Amino acid sequence: MSYRMTARTTGALRRLAIVAIALGAAAVAPGDTGVALGPVAARPAVAQTVGATEQAAAQEVGAEWAIAVHGGAGTARRESMTPELESRYAAALTAALEAGGEILASGGSSLDAVEAALRLLEDSPLFNAGKGAVFTHDGRNELDASIMDGASLAAGAVAAVHHVKNPISLARRVMEASPHVMMAGVGAEEFALEQGIELVPATYFFTESRWQSLQRAREAERRADAEPVGALGERLGTVGAVALDRHGNLAAGTTTGGMTNKRFGRIGDSPIIGVGTYADNRACAVSGTGHGEFFMRNAVAHDICARVLYLEESIGEAADAVVMGVLVEQGGDGGVIAMDPEGVIAMPFNTPSMLRGYVTSEEGPVVEIFRE
Ligand code: ASP
Repeated sequence: MSYRMTARTTGALRRLAIVAIALGAAAVAPGDTGVALGPVAARPAVAQTVGATEQAAAQEVGAEWAIAVHGGAGTARRESMTPELESRYAAALTAALEAGGEILASGGSSLDAVEAALRLLEDSPLFNAGKGAVFTHDGRNELDASIMDGASLAAGAVAAVHHVKNPISLARRVMEASPHVMMAGVGAEEFALEQGIELVPATYFFTESRWQSLQRAREAERRADAEPVGALGERLGTVGAVALDRHGNLAAGTTTGGMTNKRFGRIGDSPIIGVGTYADNRACAVSGTGHGEFFMRNAVAHDICARVLYLEESIGEAADAVVMGVLVEQGGDGGVIAMDPEGVIAMPFNTPSMLRGYVTSEEGPVVEIFRE
């Protein structure tokens, strides 16, 4: 009895602490431009890509270690993106690949590589994850993330958190330091506090560019030609990673702010194991991006791995069948990055663009944005 009372009291104090953090001084002044702050690195080679079918086999040679990342599938077209912005995206993806690649090259685990790469992308205001998360209809940032270990099928996920600087690290902590797979909302944040995971005021996630996207989405909604709430719009920027380490272990992770103008409380595919993220050493590792409701209905990440395992399809065939077949038939926009146990990578997408790249023991880093 006294234990329960103590636990409750401690819980109440923790909740208060979370609120105090939420009410604390803004770490970022409104008016933040929402573009990368650091110096722009030398532009990496942006490979020319080809048609949809070949997209599924972006990299056909196996490797001792490999990591691929995505920065979201979306409607951005080359004409609408400045070369400067393109360079910034490429530099950020390259930095994430290099961080993950260094860990893998020195014999580190695929889980560590996935987490390190995704933390960097979460800290960049360019991507719809962590710092650059999009806004809900009522003007909040609500973050989802998940991670999975292909060796043990251990998995961790968090949904609808508002104060966690790096949700991917909290997802990993759920996997490794709790008996659960998924935690949401205040309970997840209380767990973050207990685990020493960094919490930030809700204002940390404010960026002017995402705020303007919300205003445009709300304006479109008011017009007669409005798209439904949560429609794909100009969305770009969920981030994900898949990796194979020298020990033959696959891992996958995905982290996002979800969809601009989503309802408060809406949870997408990204934190759902088997949908936005899946890893199984016997088959593949997958991270998805796109219109989450379609990914959920089709259990996209698991379906790709199941095709590899049961139908013995190649990773390119399996990823292509789901993204360019099943999803296209249903009108589900998006794409995936997928890797097989030999380090072969497929990156199909059915949208005009998907930020993506890879580096392996044999090749890269290569970063691509558009279809061609
Ligand atoms: N899949 C994410 C969601 O529906 C959004 C995205 O990938 O851009 O929450």
